[in-house]
Amino acid sequence: MTKKVVKKEEETYLFKRENGLPTLSESKEKKMNAFCEEYKAFLDHGKTERECVREAIRLAEKAGFVPFEADKKYAPGDKVYVSNRGKALVLAVIGEEGCRNGVAIAAAHIDSPRLDLKPIPLYESNDMAFLKTHYYGGIKKYQWTAIPLTMHGTVVCKDGRVVNLCVGEKEGDEQFCVTDLLPHLSQEQSAKTLGKAIEAENMNILCGSSPISGEKGEEMYKQKVMQILHDRYGICEEDLMSAEIEFVPAFHAVDIGFDRSMIGSYGHDDRVCAYPALQALLHSKTPRRTAIVVLADKEEIGSVGNTGLDSQFLNYFVEDLADAEGLKARHVLSKSQCLSADVTAAFDPSYASAYDVQNACLINRGVGVMKYTGARGKSGSSEASAEFTAKVRQLFDDNDVQWQMGELGRVDLGGGGTVALYVAGLNVDVIDIGVPVLSMHAPFEVVSKYDVYMTYKACKAFFAD
Ligand code: MN
Ligand code: MN
Repeated sequence: MTKKVVKKEEETYLFKRENGLPTLSESKEKKMNAFCEEYKAFLDHGKTERECVREAIRLAEKAGFVPFEADKKYAPGDKVYVSNRGKALVLAVIGEEGCRNGVAIAAAHIDSPRLDLKPIPLYESNDMAFLKTHYYGGIKKYQWTAIPLTMHGTVVCKDGRVVNLCVGEKEGDEQFCVTDLLPHLSQEQSAKTLGKAIEAENMNILCGSSPISGEKGEEMYKQKVMQILHDRYGICEEDLMSAEIEFVPAFHAVDIGFDRSMIGSYGHDDRVCAYPALQALLHSKTPRRTAIVVLADKEEIGSVGNTGLDSQFLNYFVEDLADAEGLKARHVLSKSQCLSADVTAAFDPSYASAYDVQNACLINRGVGVMKYTGARGKSGSSEASAEFTAKVRQLFDDNDVQWQMGELGRVDLGGGGTVALYVAGLNVDVIDIGVPVLSMHAPFEVVSKYDVYMTYKACKAFFAD
């Protein structure tokens, strides 16, 4: 373990951060790599919030978790989960002390930026068929053109029939894309600012170029696409109105670098914290306090809606646990602590001026701790108290967790929010921790394996406290 305080007498007072890889033992490196291989598989199986919930439940059930029953009494060591509409998930291991001294919560989100379909998406134009999109979350639109996309989603028909779609992920599947203008004809586009070069209304997904054969009539290209969808899934155009269809990058998770020290993938934000938090709970022995993992939806658009953490579903779950022990939820929550596990910006030397390097997280220096997030004057942040921040520092040091402290970018420039403020709103002590990410919110984001593993160890230490 890297010493946080350097040994030389005259320098004892200084904090030092170092790349953690040189001091990593061979056995720990093996464990780290094995953990990251499983994480890569999770990424490939969970490209939407619904898929992440399904995959998390599969892993949890394998580890002995069962669906939670609100009016049942649970004993220490019992493992339960509640799915909120298949888009958010709460899991818990009942502690020796139950929840009378508070609960330990790790909260991460499983939604990622993407292109959603509009309710009436399909149209044809000049012998091609397209799907109109409405982007979800903060994206740089130019990054989403001219890359292969896959289709994931759920269609619910009027009779209640549910059709789950996943097209483009299997070897040999067809894929999709948003086209971009060739450089030869881009003089006007290139003169525009980056944010305006691609208009959202032009982010249309190319999905066909052949008309129904042997028939004459209107909209034959559009009809051909609907004919295929109907033959395959039994759905009509109207069914798309009650659908949640997300187009996401087709890339699979891969190692990055000659040394394979990093992982490139779509959707690290925030599965790179959700997966370590989940695994920490699945691997945890019966904890002292009841340990809870929340995998939330809708963080990327402000934690809104009934599956986002601004909803009461976490509160209700703790209330059920409290009721079963004859306690009041508000007393339990007021004694509880939470790691808001979400990614932070990794310092990128190619864009150094966007950061205050002294207060930025660097990759391979361990799990990032953010005392606060927010933008321009900490707006929208939940700031962890000095007391709780100190406790977390001690906890990580005691458990061989390498950590670093950082902010998200330059003060006047930077900022961003997490679920922290919504959990803090329940009067819980909350601190933001998570993996530093390069190219955050791009279709292909990069993290370091070391930081992923340290985030897992951080969550484990927190639950074991
Ligand atoms: Mn995030
Ligand atoms: Mn994000």
